Amino acid sequence: MEITCHCGNIKLSVENPPAEVGKCNCSICRRYAALWGYYSPEEVNIAYEKEKSVFYIWGDREVEFHRCNLCGCVTHYVTTPKCPDKVVAVNMNMAPLEVLAAISVREIDGANY
Ligand SMILES: [Zn+2]
Repeated sequence: MEITCHCGNIKLSVENPPAEVGKCNCSICRRYAALWGYYSPEEVNIAYEKEKSVFYIWGDREVEFHRCNLCGCVTHYVTTPKCPDKVVAVNMNMAPLEVLAAISVREIDGANY
């Protein structure tokens, strides 16, 4: 299935939707209002129509939060080599509504983690 930013510049392809999405209340996730579907890097194909994504990195520098520089949507994050886990998290709010509606949401208390 394909997950895209609003303007279609960033296209994320995965075989199957995630079993659940994580809704995290940490300082960055709550601002992005993202619903994360977690994958290993080889499970996600990332393509660009017009230009590459830009990203924000902060704090312990373990995660890059990628967004489309054209429409502003936060589409995914990837862990850096500083992080022990290799993860690509896809913002499932970019998925079709009917796909998102069928996925259960797990609240993550990242603010107090
Ligand atoms: Zn876009």
